[in-house]
Amino acid sequence: MIKSLHKRQSELANSQKQLEILSNGIFQNGDLPKFKDKIAETGQFPLTAKKLEILQINVGYMCNQVCEHCHVDAGPDRKEIMTRETMLQCLEVIKNTGAHTLDLTGGAPEMNPDFRWFVEEASKIGVKDFIVRSNLTIIRSNKKYYDLPEFFKKHNIHVISSMPHWTKGKTDKQRGDGVFDKSISALKALNAVGYGMPDSGLQLDLVYNPSGAFLPGNQASMEKDFKSALIDEFGIHFNNLFTITNLPISRFLDYLIASENYEDYMYALVEAYNPATVKNVMCINTLSVSWDGFLYDCDFNQMLNLPVNSKVKHISEYNESLLEGRKIMISQHCYGCTAGAGSSCQGSVT
Ligand code: SF4
Ligand code: SF4
Repeated sequence: MIKSLHKRQSELANSQKQLEILSNGIFQNGDLPKFKDKIAETGQFPLTAKKLEILQINVGYMCNQVCEHCHVDAGPDRKEIMTRETMLQCLEVIKNTGAHTLDLTGGAPEMNPDFRWFVEEASKIGVKDFIVRSNLTIIRSNKKYYDLPEFFKKHNIHVISSMPHWTKGKTDKQRGDGVFDKSISALKALNAVGYGMPDSGLQLDLVYNPSGAFLPGNQASMEKDFKSALIDEFGIHFNNLFTITNLPISRFLDYLIASENYEDYMYALVEAYNPATVKNVMCINTLSVSWDGFLYDCDFNQMLNLPVNSKVKHISEYNESLLEGRKIMISQHCYGCTAGAGSSCQGSVT
C-alpha cells in the first residue's frame, strides 16, 4: 500500500509548494499562458460566484484506501475529522440556504464516527439531491459498514462512487490491491436493495478518472462501454457514469512529477482548453466546507489551502450575500476543469 504524502513527509504535502510548482516553470517563462490570462481572452476573468446551489462538505480526510491519484491525499493515517459541533453549524446553513444539493465527501465520509448522525439530521431538513461519495470498498471493509446500502436507501441518498475501470488490473493499479473485487461486491449489495435498478428511484452513479497522464474519453461512449461490461460480466446496474479529469494537485501532481509527465500533462490540458466550459465550472454555484469548517470555492482549492476571497471564511459566519459575487480563487490547476468537455464532481460540464 502506498502512503499519503503527509505520512511520507513529502514536500508536496505542503500546499504552498504545490502552488509554487503550478505558478513557476512553464507558466512563469511564458511557454504556457496562466489560467487567468487564458480565460481573460474571452472576457471571463474574473470568475465570479453566483447563487449557492451545491454545498459540498468534506467530513474528513481519513480513508480506508490510499489511491495513487487522490487529490485529498487521504488515507488511514489522516486524522482530520469533522466534529459534531462543526456539523451542527453546517446543518444551520443547510436549513437557511436555498441550496438544492448537499454533497458529502471525504476521505471515506462513512469513517467519520458522526457520519450516520449527520445524515439522519440533514435528511430531516430535506434537500432535493442528497449525495454521499462512497468509495464502495468501505461497505465491504468491516461488518459495521455492511448495512450501509440499507442506511443509504432509508435516507434516499444519491450514491456516487469511483470505479476507474471494469477490469481488475486497471482498477487495482490506481486504487490498490483487492479494490476491484470489493467494489464489485459492494455494487452488488447496492443493486440488491434497489440502487441503480430501473425504476427504483435510488440513484447510483459511477465516476471514472483516467489511470495515467491523459484526459478522459467521451463521457457518453464510456458510459455505454461501462454499462455493457458491468452488466455482461457481473450483472451490475448503475445510472450514470461521470468522467472526471485528474487535476494536477496532491498525489496526482506527485505522480506526474515522479513519472516525468508533469509538463506534457500541463501542455495537454492547455491545448484542450475549451472556453465554453468556463461558465459552467462547479465553483460558480458550489461552496466547499472543510473538516474544520473553513470555506473554499471547491474541494481542490480546499486541498491547496486557497480559502474563499470573502470576509466570511468559516461556516459559522455564513452569509449568503457576502459570499455571492465573490471572485473565485484560481491557479493553473483550474485548467483541469476546462479541458475538453470540462470536468466537475458531476462529470463533464458541456
Ligand atoms: S480517491 Fe477517494 S477512495 Fe481513494 S484515497 Fe482518495 S478519498 Fe480515499
Ligand atoms: S479547480 Fe476549483 S476554482 Fe478552479 S475552475 Fe475548478 S472548480 Fe473552479
